[in-house]
Amino acid sequence: MKSDDIKERLKDFEPEIKKLQSTEEVFWLNPHLQKFDSAIQHIPVTKEDVLDAEARLKRFAPYIAIVFPETAKTYGIIESPLVHIPTMKQALERDHQQRIQGELWLKCDSHLPISGSIKARGGIYEILKHAEELALQHNLITLEDDYQLFATDHFREFFSQFSIAVGSTGNLGLSIGIISAKIGFKVTVHMSADAKQWKKDLLRSKNVQVIEYDEDYSKAVAEGRAQASADPTCYFVDDENSRDLFMGYAVAGLRLKQQLEEMKMTVEEDHPLFVYLPCGVGGGPGGVAFGLKLWFQDNVHCFFAEPTHSPCMLLGLMTGLHEQISVQDIGLDNKTEADGLAVGRPSGFVSNIMNVFLSGSYTVEDHQLYRLLKELADAEKIHLEPSALAGMIGPVKLIKEGKAYITEQHLSDKMEQAVHLVWGTGGSMVPKVILQDYYQTGVKIVHES
Ligand SMILES: *Cc1c(COP(=O)(O)O)cnc(C)c1O
Repeated sequence: MKSDDIKERLKDFEPEIKKLQSTEEVFWLNPHLQKFDSAIQHIPVTKEDVLDAEARLKRFAPYIAIVFPETAKTYGIIESPLVHIPTMKQALERDHQQRIQGELWLKCDSHLPISGSIKARGGIYEILKHAEELALQHNLITLEDDYQLFATDHFREFFSQFSIAVGSTGNLGLSIGIISAKIGFKVTVHMSADAKQWKKDLLRSKNVQVIEYDEDYSKAVAEGRAQASADPTCYFVDDENSRDLFMGYAVAGLRLKQQLEEMKMTVEEDHPLFVYLPCGVGGGPGGVAFGLKLWFQDNVHCFFAEPTHSPCMLLGLMTGLHEQISVQDIGLDNKTEADGLAVGRPSGFVSNIMNVFLSGSYTVEDHQLYRLLKELADAEKIHLEPSALAGMIGPVKLIKEGKAYITEQHLSDKMEQAVHLVWGTGGSMVPKVILQDYYQTGVKIVHES
């Protein structure tokens, strides 16, 4: 979009844009949120798409269980724990002088097997789907076969004729790199300047080609897309537009529903569920939110969290410009310690879906992320990477700044029975010494304040 047109549109949101430009933390309620029954009719994805993805992951489970033995105890299903964190809730209440009604829980996608972040949902799913399509096209399998066949030398040799490319700030590269190399593909990961050294080193140790850029995520994706399009045997995982990634993430909704049932936790009108999801380009949190909406409909309330320097989804949704506006267009630098969230322009595919499903969105300062990282480690002995803490402040923000939402949605008398679920999106693969550095940064910030 031309910069004059963008300027014209921004005039309608002057106070909000000013606040974003000042990198002050903001809390925004989505005026376009619709009731589920109406929202589901306005989007290009369906429940059937998600059930299809779940069925595909089940077909691959016997293969996953063999090649990633850490998944053997879940029979090759890649899933993460759901944990109650009452001590962290007390810490939040103390630090923010704010009582939090309801329970506080953490979804530990930080501890997903294979690649230790939420990307182990979407990234692995998309590569498995591509591998299945190739194998079907070449009559190597039928849908009824035992997919342990994928672990044979014959299959690995077959897949070595094909390549995979992806652009990433780090964690998507890890998930795509690890699964692609395991299947036998040649794989190239285009890494943005934010990507941490250990992620590049780890990938190179697994024979993944890593190409580094001095620019941000959008550039890494554009380069990856361009190089892949020149090679007909290369498949590009397009984080800015991918339906398949989205479906892999969305399976989380059904899985969480089963987990809650096992734990005898109910989500219904009198027991609302609030979910707080760190957002980068949008595919991970968007897919998960969509998956949750399918099962809990209007009883789940999803909020996104972004760094104050990279509020791309909030900006796209608020202005209605979606992927046609970037944080750089309003003078922000997209520089943040939360490498997983360092994205300046949202996915248009995802923001159009979230437009009708998302309750709201807020921004968090990097300092706050480190402080929360330290608090969580002290309170619950759980270690996450900075990006993954963005959701943790959500309940405080909702209760302090989201009163209008609670009233509008008739939730005031239900908050005592609410569950606040923070989506912990990454951390278990971070080397110990780096986790210690993160923790020490948090200690310093707490002392200085
Ligand atoms: C990628 C990532 C996110 C956000 O996912 P998007 O699909 O980019 O929105 C959040 N947290 C962590 C740790 C991530 O790696």
